[in-house]
Amino acid sequence: MKAINECSACGNKEIVQGKFQYEARVQPINKKFSTGSDVLVDFCSNCGLILLMKVENPEKFK
Ligand SMILES: [Zn+2]
Repeated sequence: MKAINECSACGNKEIVQGKFQYEARVQPINKKFSTGSDVLVDFCSNCGLILLMKVENPEKFK
């Protein structure tokens, strides 16, 4: 995957990465006992625009 390294809104080049955790975890709809996965987000450190959201462990959903 091509890395995003510039904010499309403000042009800032400092993109940082965070995570949705706890209640914001993504759960498979059909697997009741799965622990699901955190969601990684890349966002602009200046204006906060989220440039990329990515499920951390997509293999859990197969
Ligand atoms: Zn920005």
